Amino acid sequence: MNTTHTILTGDRPTGPLHLGHYVGSLRQRVSLQHQYRQFILIADLQGLTDNGSNPQKVSANILEVMADYLAAGIDPTKTMICLQSALPALAELSALYMNIVTVARVARNPTVKNEIAQKGFSRALPVGFMAYPISQAADITAFQADRIPVGDDQLPMIEQTNEIVHKMNNLTGAPVLRHCQALLSPVSRLPGIDGSAKMSKSLGNTLLLSASEQDIHRAVSAMYTDPDHLRVSDPGRVEGNVVFTYLDACHPDPHKVAQMKAHYQQGGLGDRACKDELENCLQTLLAPIRARRAQFAGESDALLALLKQGSEAARDITQQTLDAVKRGLGLPVLW
Ligand code: ATP
Ligand code: MG
Repeated sequence: MNTTHTILTGDRPTGPLHLGHYVGSLRQRVSLQHQYRQFILIADLQGLTDNGSNPQKVSANILEVMADYLAAGIDPTKTMICLQSALPALAELSALYMNIVTVARVARNPTVKNEIAQKGFSRALPVGFMAYPISQAADITAFQADRIPVGDDQLPMIEQTNEIVHKMNNLTGAPVLRHCQALLSPVSRLPGIDGSAKMSKSLGNTLLLSASEQDIHRAVSAMYTDPDHLRVSDPGRVEGNVVFTYLDACHPDPHKVAQMKAHYQQGGLGDRACKDELENCLQTLLAPIRARRAQFAGESDALLALLKQGSEAARDITQQTLDAVKRGLGLPVLW
């Protein structure tokens, strides 16, 4: 194991994981766990920032997400999977960082701006939601993580984190926090099955990792292709064609996809054939995940025990970072 880098990522347990998580981040995490020290955080506190009145939506999905991780190939003997609310140092660091970030700075975060508009909060915007990039900075820095495999919606969060690192290290006069960088996957933003910009739980346009054969068939059948590709013999467009975007993201043989694209653009390759290829590829990708996931149904005690084990391992390291920051700021560390 190479200990030069520490990997941290997280997911909000606001629903089961989907194909966007897989191609945007989870797939990378599965291979990184063999090389580096890796933590994955189930971000239940962050999940509550836009579900304050509906906490069951978050609590009910913690073990669902845990089951998705294991089914997708995260190995709990290699990756420490932990629960955000079980690690008080994260919340304390967050409270300290809030004093060195301005409201104006948080307000111009493009991802947060987008989400606020999308969720239609208007004046009912929860303070916690507005501040979640700061809490995310606390998560990343508490683990001294320096490599973050995320989708491109998270780039503003990484930038914000590095600003906090810079300020805090200046303020304390010591490198108490570590700078970090995003590891973007080649597919850093998978569109929704409806063709909209991003597959996302909140937008209800997902293909779940636990999708049934029928779900996969329905999703692929309903996908948009090129609206001007009327006859098989017509030349078709692959840009903005959701079927090809998914083939690029998921097909194991890029050479074959390149050949299909050339054929489609030239004319002579039908939408039905492209969809069949995509459906086969998704069925092959998701069948083993679905089968492994089924093994965890009714195993909530075992899942909880694994979560506890990972969270225990994370407690010391996050507390050490908090203590270093406190000392740096001149605050007494009593225990
Ligand atoms: P929510 O709508 O509740 O915010 P989400 O679907 O956006 O849910 P998150 O838990 O916010 O999922 O995201 C977890 C991780 O997965 C992040 O690193 C994010 O960048 C990545 N991710 C989520 N959706 C996609 C996507 N469609 N394409 C690529 N990466 C994605
Ligand atoms: Mg999100």
